[in-house]
Amino acid sequence: MRRRALIASFGLAGLVPFAARAAGPVRVVASFSILGDMVRQIGGDAVAVTALVGADGDVHTYDPRPQDLRTVMAASLLVQNGLGLEGWMVRLTGSAGFKGKIITAAEKVTPRTMSEAGGVIATDPHAWQDPRNAILYVETIAEGLTAVDPANAATCRANASRYAAQIAETDAWVAATLEPIPTPQRRIITTHDAFGYYGARYGVEFLSAEGISTEFEPSAKAIAALVAQIKREKVHAVFIENMTSDRMARMLANETGAVLGGTVYSDALSPPDGPAPTYVDMLRHNTTLFAAAMRG
Ligand SMILES: [Zn+2]
Repeated sequence: MRRRALIASFGLAGLVPFAARAAGPVRVVASFSILGDMVRQIGGDAVAVTALVGADGDVHTYDPRPQDLRTVMAASLLVQNGLGLEGWMVRLTGSAGFKGKIITAAEKVTPRTMSEAGGVIATDPHAWQDPRNAILYVETIAEGLTAVDPANAATCRANASRYAAQIAETDAWVAATLEPIPTPQRRIITTHDAFGYYGARYGVEFLSAEGISTEFEPSAKAIAALVAQIKREKVHAVFIENMTSDRMARMLANETGAVLGGTVYSDALSPPDGPAPTYVDMLRHNTTLFAAAMRG
């Protein structure tokens, strides 16, 4: 106890020699909360992770803050999604003069494309919503971590393989949970097109007011067409997404008589005390709500 008091009173933290600090956890920056969780699951105690866009944040429209420059400059490894999700990243790493390693988590994924308003074909960045893609993310992140921290390679690989097995188990649980729902009821409305990969994996049709980014407000004409479609196809439920305003979901529910199915987590996790503090929790939470709404 006496020793601890002395350390505290002399502020010993400032005197730790460089070699001791260098042997500490590897500093990793993840672009958003879902990747931050994946890095933590794989790196464990060997990493200190900061997610630039945190819980409930919108990674599409993020505007980096001055303190992000310092965070990026202090990191050895930067993990981004890719597929056009983080349009702001090049500017940030450029301004920070980042010299560390950059990993693109989605690099092994086969991307989906969608036709957006005006017939533009766009790449859908939300690949993590298919757990089979998340397993590819895990492999890519583990390769990046072992490259920057070879001393912890064995632990990192063991964590990655255990985590991949947990994701595969969750994938099987999602499929089994949705399996009994009849095809005509497999329709869900969300604010923006974040669940295309999830829908393709499990056979659920997602309709949304906005496209694959939250950057642009939908036109009045697009909203009117969606309202008509919801009524015509008798879609049961509209979902609020944690990282966007609930205004659109509430308006669609009001206009169509569909019920509000609750809040799902698309592009960001919840805070630690919320229902989706990890990627695996997020899949389970969203699926529980989607399944309840589709059963009607
Ligand atoms: Zn999104």
